[in-house]
Amino acid sequence: MTNVIYPTTNFKATEQIVVERGEGVYVYDNHGKQYLEGLAGLWCTSLGYGNQELIDAATAQMGQLSYYHAFGGKTHPMMMALADKIRDMVPVDNAKIFFGNSGSDANDTFIKILRYYANATGRPEKRKIITRERGYHGVTVAAGALTSLPANLTHFDAPVEALGILRTDHPHYYKGRHPGESEEAFVDRIVGNLEKLILAEGADTIAAFLAEPITGASGVIVPPAGYYEKVQAVLNKHDIMFWADEVICGFGRTGNDFGCTTMNIENPALMTLAKQLSSAYVPISASVVRGDIYEALVEPVSEVGVFGHGYTYSGHPLGCAVALKTLEIYERDNIFEKAAKTGAYLQKKLAPFAEHPLVGEVRGRGLIAALELVSDKATGEGFPPSVAGFLTNACAEAGLIGRPVAGTAFALCPPLIITEAQIDELTDKLATGLDATLAHVHSEGLL
Ligand code: PMP
Repeated sequence: MTNVIYPTTNFKATEQIVVERGEGVYVYDNHGKQYLEGLAGLWCTSLGYGNQELIDAATAQMGQLSYYHAFGGKTHPMMMALADKIRDMVPVDNAKIFFGNSGSDANDTFIKILRYYANATGRPEKRKIITRERGYHGVTVAAGALTSLPANLTHFDAPVEALGILRTDHPHYYKGRHPGESEEAFVDRIVGNLEKLILAEGADTIAAFLAEPITGASGVIVPPAGYYEKVQAVLNKHDIMFWADEVICGFGRTGNDFGCTTMNIENPALMTLAKQLSSAYVPISASVVRGDIYEALVEPVSEVGVFGHGYTYSGHPLGCAVALKTLEIYERDNIFEKAAKTGAYLQKKLAPFAEHPLVGEVRGRGLIAALELVSDKATGEGFPPSVAGFLTNACAEAGLIGRPVAGTAFALCPPLIITEAQIDELTDKLATGLDATLAHVHSEGLL
């Protein structure tokens, strides 16, 4: 028994793993059992556990300046240095950076910036946001309204209408295609739907289109070729910003520096960063704003007096110091290039799982992947969510932590430092988990 209200957990759930310590790509429970962290915590522990340089950076910063804020003319060296570093790395022209504490609050910041921008540029109506079915963008009151997963949306009465949030198709060809539809026809249809939505609402009422380049929590969906090129053409035609949520894809996850690079998304207006920004050693997020958007706010803000948005911990020195060291390690140790190679190896090792009787689709890019569990390979018909839950437990039993996503899939997203030998271990354990799940599904008469 504990007195914790657990996040994203069934309050009656009985199975729990008490994680006590971590080292490299492994964590250990309170019985000393070792697990390969196949989801990098929650898609975030890129450099693994126990990285001495990050620990030293944190310790040194605590001694030097444990806290300072950034309100009203204050700043500190680590925050400025981190902003410079991010600006150099991101595929966003003349980026300016607002710091927060989580992916959710970074997305909230953008909702507010978009509304501020609409007012400041004399187009107050142009403030709606298009998000996608099954997208995940956080869980605060505002970011939760951007998220489309039912568990995060239903029952909370999220202010979807008040915030002007519209939803369009999710680009999952395997599940979303019409019978006989080619990938290209699927893309044309859903991008056509996007344009219809824009025309029906009026482009002058829509500020931005929000997307994870490759989704995470909704099942690791890699859109078909050409999707983002066509989406961007429609957005450009209607003067709508592209807002890239790189909270999972950012920093080497998908085989390139950013998901935007992997998916040919060019110079987005807004980019959300968190998680691997600090390898999850400390909470920190960044709302990256393209230079022209920021410039349009400078005069209006100075007329008002201040940009009245900020958190006590915006740019916390500890977060900035650890993030800066994380980004330095990424560069110095060529982590993204190495992750691209191990990522290709992971995808190669996972591909044969498509032959497993339970698996309808294996998908992913770089070091992020998912297996779609199906009861009928021809139709893609899924199992009840308990089957993905069973697989998760069976893998944990075998010493592998992964995560059920979207009810019907099992996601993998190991630390970027994982080696090929550890990927072999991961796929061996996955095979054990899948076979145990197959036996379970047979015994329950589900297949
Ligand atoms: N955006 C995406 C794409 C995410 O995956 C997440 C978290 N999984 C968030 C936003 C929210 O981040 P946080 O949990 O740090 O608030």
